[in-house]
Amino acid sequence: MHQRYCEVALPVPLRNTFTYAVPASLNGEPVVGRRVVVPFRNRPIVGVAVSESDRAPETAGAEVRIKPIAELMDRGPALSANLIELGRWISGYYLAPIGETFRAMLPPETELRHDCEYTLTNAGRAQLAQFALGTGDDIPEPEDMVLLRRFEEAESVSSAQARRWPGGEAAIEKLVQRGLVIAGDVARHRKARTQTIVAWKPEGGGAGANLTIHSAETSAEEKRMSRRAQNERAAEERVREVLTATGGPVPLGLLMEKANVTRTTIQRLEKNGRLLMWEEPLTANEDPWDTDFTPPNNVLNSEQNQALAEIWRWMVAGKFATGLLHGVTGSGKTEVYLGAIDAALSRRKSAIVLVPEIALTLWTSRLARARFGEDVAILHSGLPDIERAREWWRARNGEARVVVGTRSAVFAPVGNLGLIIVDEEQESAYKQEETPRYNGRDVAVYRAHLEGAVALLGSATPSLESYHNAHAGKYRLLELTQRVANRPLAEVRIIDLREEFRQRRKAMPVSEPLRAAIALRLEEKTQAMILINRRGYSWSLLCRNCGAFVQCQNCSIALTYHKSRQRLVCHYCGFSIRPPKQCPKCHAEYLYFVGDGAERVEEYLREQFPAARVARLDRDTVRTKREYQQVLGAFAKGEIDVLVGTQMVAKGHDFQRVTLVGVVAADLALGRPDFRAAERTFQLLTQVAGRAGRGELSGEVLVETYYPEHYAIEYARRQDYASFYEKEAHFRKMLHYPPFTALASVLIRDRKIENAIRWSRALASYFAPFEERGVKVLGPAAAPLARLRRDYRFQFVLKSPQRAALGRALSGAVDFCAAKDIPETAVIVDVDPATLM
Ligand code: ADP
Ligand code: ZN
Repeated sequence: MHQRYCEVALPVPLRNTFTYAVPASLNGEPVVGRRVVVPFRNRPIVGVAVSESDRAPETAGAEVRIKPIAELMDRGPALSANLIELGRWISGYYLAPIGETFRAMLPPETELRHDCEYTLTNAGRAQLAQFALGTGDDIPEPEDMVLLRRFEEAESVSSAQARRWPGGEAAIEKLVQRGLVIAGDVARHRKARTQTIVAWKPEGGGAGANLTIHSAETSAEEKRMSRRAQNERAAEERVREVLTATGGPVPLGLLMEKANVTRTTIQRLEKNGRLLMWEEPLTANEDPWDTDFTPPNNVLNSEQNQALAEIWRWMVAGKFATGLLHGVTGSGKTEVYLGAIDAALSRRKSAIVLVPEIALTLWTSRLARARFGEDVAILHSGLPDIERAREWWRARNGEARVVVGTRSAVFAPVGNLGLIIVDEEQESAYKQEETPRYNGRDVAVYRAHLEGAVALLGSATPSLESYHNAHAGKYRLLELTQRVANRPLAEVRIIDLREEFRQRRKAMPVSEPLRAAIALRLEEKTQAMILINRRGYSWSLLCRNCGAFVQCQNCSIALTYHKSRQRLVCHYCGFSIRPPKQCPKCHAEYLYFVGDGAERVEEYLREQFPAARVARLDRDTVRTKREYQQVLGAFAKGEIDVLVGTQMVAKGHDFQRVTLVGVVAADLALGRPDFRAAERTFQLLTQVAGRAGRGELSGEVLVETYYPEHYAIEYARRQDYASFYEKEAHFRKMLHYPPFTALASVLIRDRKIENAIRWSRALASYFAPFEERGVKVLGPAAAPLARLRRDYRFQFVLKSPQRAALGRALSGAVDFCAAKDIPETAVIVDVDPATLM
């Protein structure tokens, strides 16, 4: 048989795949799509085989020895042919290194544990020998000699062991630096997390369980023996009692405790054929919200029915189609999603539901579980690796046909895909802000195209891109124009902060009309939600003498004051300092806190309403999924009167007793120099307004702003998406922005400003001729965040009406950088950026 070769994508930031030989022992085994362990730079790493051939690659030198695959990982391919093709497309479209793209698609690596192992080098041995003979010139430290001796005895030492030796790892690292000891990387199989389950063997077991005593004369020895036998029989009896009492198999640990027996006893009983023992994977933790949940039993209204009937038709046609479900907040889009999943399952197909945030996977999966039971798997980055791997393989093996998850669940390995739903499709959370910089929504549409499935994008405020596609006939538009049960949309009132200031001559954390509205809710005993899209107590600390804000040491960004921590914090890199008494620049003492954040608003409301139950929900108060659930759960149960929060509170949730939503400083985002500023403001206001009046009680929304006449605020007040779209589309067209132009940003960054400038200049000369090839190149200019995490940053913005031309300019740029030895990490290419900030 021919020697087989395969191309392996490895999780390294390089743009090529690597060729390995398939050893003869694997003949007959398919390798494409399989995860493999291969040697790479002298360490074993896990990659995925993406293609196979029986010809050796043509290399210039021909002297390269092709190494064999060390190991095949799973019983079958992890990735289907479709997913491999999807990965290649992402890598090409987003200019992302292929290995890093595939890493994002594979299950978490739970099987292998990378470990460091130390061994003595020849130099180390020589040193020991010299010391023994008393020859060498430099007399080693006695501690070092002790360690070297230990190495000599142990042959190889894991880093875990070494840590416990005198001097710990630091002492050993010193020996490594001196070349006496070498550190190598080894990969070991990790034991899957399982538990031993024990059951009573029904037939009652084989022979040899009882000891019989032959001799009439019992020696002391035999007496002891018989006492042991008696003890054993008693232990066996207790084990049997526990197992019959519980009426089924029991985990080993529990059995040992209940029956008060040792592991040895149980193992002996198994050997004697009394017990059955096997390994089972540890079960996932129960979601505490799942317990007392009864799903709503809604009868669909006619708009919902119409939308669903249309989706059924697409599903029956069994061809690729993309639908945009534009439904106002509270119009019952979720019911349509669930019906669409039903349609897919009834055609024996599988479905994926993407939601923008981990927290929303809980709401959605709860509904899905209630309807589709065990068929549902959940995939998001907040799960422990071991759980995520299990859910991943459940989907891969066809045990789960519905997957609910965040962005990366678009790669869920379900077979026979019929439907991908993208809820709140406009959310920037779908855009991954690290390599591969893909947009989950767009990947979903492409995957549906590859697999002949239906993509269903849903939103109350579709992105300009999707609505434009619907108008152009690329997507099919489904509309839900009414809230369910004829509930009215909440009324939105604008509070003009300029007017407020004229009247009161004093800026308060919350305007008077909003304060009064909250007071009214407290009297009525309904609930209020206050959105303030800034964390911390004060946005910044300003010197009134020199006019400078106190800035981060690593970023060109003002530090935010957090009162509870008594620190000024950088929200980009985490840098923090104690608030200074003097201006760091001019040493004046006129420092003033500027702008109220969520922490201040919460404090103010507590002062104003001491009897009210006020809580805050933002990344400072909730750090874990559990805390998040606790706060939202408490709010849902009515244990909180006023919930203050950042945009975390704005999304998706369905609270029935909220009758007031207040938005503090609604125009914050409008000031950003970003082409999506108006769109984001409109979306946020509409979404948050949609949180009010979702139950029987009607709702009111109060929006504070300094720019009441801005169209984003005005149309959000009227909740008029169509007019907003028209106006915004007009501007985008004029200014050459998406969806009318393909857009990309290329960022050059380095610790040294000279490098960043030099590389930017080089790239500018590369881009220059593209002006004539239909690509407009703006820059290089200092990026809006000119310094971030100590890097100086320069930015190019590329625009082209033809995506292909843009793609050519970008892939050429990547090659150019490689040829000019500009490091991969210094260049960030962002295709279809969510923001230019
Ligand atoms: P959206 O996502 O469109 O904002 P949801 O899907 O969250 O809206 O639905 C809002 C609420 O309306 C939910 O409590 C849901 O149970 C309820 N609902 C959905 N469809 C109906 C219906 N046909 N009749 C009554 N209530 C419904
Ligand atoms: Zn910083």
